[in-house]
Amino acid sequence: MNIVLLHKNLRISDNAALYNGCNSEKTLIIYAYDKSYWLESGRSYRQFKFCLDCLSQLTENLKKLNRKLFIFNGNLNELSVWIEKNYPQSKIFVNQSTDTKNYRDQFNSFKNFFLDRNRLNIFEDFGIQTQNFDREKWSLDWHKIMKKELLPAPNKSSTDFKKIPLGLLPFNNFKKTFLKNTSTIEGSFQPGGEDNARKLLSSFLKNRANGYSLKMSSPIEAESSCSRLSPHITFGSISLRTIFHELMENINSSPYQRDLLSFKKRLHWHCHFIQKLETEPELEFRSMHPMCDSLRDSENKELTEKWILGETGFPFLDACTTFLRKKGWINFRMRAMIMSFASYNLWQPWQKTSPLLAELFVDYEPGIHICQVQMQSGVTGINLPRIYSVLKQSKDQDPSATWIKGQIKSLKDAAPKNIHDAELIEIYHDKIVDLKSSARKAREEVWSIRKGSNFKKIAKEVYLKHGSRLKRA
Ligand SMILES: Cc1cc2nc3c(=O)[nH]c(=O)nc-3n(C[C@H](O)[C@H](O)[C@H](O)COP(=O)(O)OP(=O)(O)OC[C@H]3O[C@@H](n4cnc5c(N)ncnc54)[C@H](O)[C@@H]3O)c2cc1C
Repeated sequence: MNIVLLHKNLRISDNAALYNGCNSEKTLIIYAYDKSYWLESGRSYRQFKFCLDCLSQLTENLKKLNRKLFIFNGNLNELSVWIEKNYPQSKIFVNQSTDTKNYRDQFNSFKNFFLDRNRLNIFEDFGIQTQNFDREKWSLDWHKIMKKELLPAPNKSSTDFKKIPLGLLPFNNFKKTFLKNTSTIEGSFQPGGEDNARKLLSSFLKNRANGYSLKMSSPIEAESSCSRLSPHITFGSISLRTIFHELMENINSSPYQRDLLSFKKRLHWHCHFIQKLETEPELEFRSMHPMCDSLRDSENKELTEKWILGETGFPFLDACTTFLRKKGWINFRMRAMIMSFASYNLWQPWQKTSPLLAELFVDYEPGIHICQVQMQSGVTGINLPRIYSVLKQSKDQDPSATWIKGQIKSLKDAAPKNIHDAELIEIYHDKIVDLKSSARKAREEVWSIRKGSNFKKIAKEVYLKHGSRLKRA
């Protein structure tokens, strides 16, 4: 018996664990639903909903191959006990995933247990390199991984599971019970699943990429001009290599070549960032440059709550947060601005604000999220601190304030100038901080620590461990 264990690669094609694990007549395909994983800070129902969509479509696709997806209700420790009891001779097939501490710890004991018994086949995911990688040639190796031939869907099975194995649930039964017991949430979030991922990729390469490299900065234009593939990449409803291959097939003949080159760079960044968390899992809890952890101490809950609810008194910032709360996505620049405001203007420790923001993203990917949060908080030691001006972004991105008014209905009659300057006494929330003095103080604090004698020495070590060897254009 083969067992394929799925965590994030929720697709039928180019799925190494699924493809290799189905090389047998009898294969159990399992998704372990670990309730405590989904209750961790940073995770949310909007993300699980996307995951359910992906699992639904995978179930449909597996059915065509005479195969089933089962749910194991429990964590990886419980699953290994279950496997030992019920299938002690089985071979296990799994894709590697870089994730947060609880999953990683459990996965490591699961992995060691079955590796010791010579029963585990583990496949590297994305372009993340888990074994003794060389930072100097990481990028070269990433390209080699991306160029590898894609795997087809697994072969069709001639035998079906007539009886449901004890301790497992067919996916559709699990979904029905789960949805019955869960209240619905408000919002218009992206739907998951392999078909949706392919449609997005195709429309992006064919026409939506037109002007991508410029439009990506605007929260208004980015919604349709960015690829919107992020949650699909996170949950693996499409493989990064599939995206890379399609991109390379189209790039030379595309009228949007410059835009697509910019997109290609970002696919590379995806793995570059996740690699950092894979290499140094402690980054989940402490700053890349350890000296920066002394900068901000305790959390002011009243401030962080207003920040994450979009009630800071700064309309453009609040409009971005409101949009994000509603859609589960916003473009890179606005994510950076929201984070910069919390870390510099409000001077809150990133460890407290990071999970609050992550919960709002359908595409929450710990490796990217945590490293970006640290970059936008000035604690990596290897990136120059950048404090976004929310007033400047307001004027630049939405001069007429029409988009802001669309997000915050109570401002529909306010003058654009007052909105941009956040001068809205009695008709809007009070401002929770003074922008100028808070930014000045933040700059002084950050630069005073950066001038310290030991700072540069440690920053060099950080660079050697994590720094990109490519020049960013
Ligand atoms: C504070 C902060 C938190 C973030 N958290 C996440 C997160 O949890 N999950 C996530 O996928 N992205 C995160 N990003 C990066 C980026 O904002 C999103 O990847 C992007 O907005 C997703 O939209 P898209 O798929 O349309 O992107 P596109 O512009 O179409 O890019 C294609 C893909 O490239 C990758 N990518 C793009 N930009 C970056 C980047 N700067 N760093 C690393 N990879 C990138 C993503 O996989 C993305 O799907 C974060 C950025 C910031 C500033």
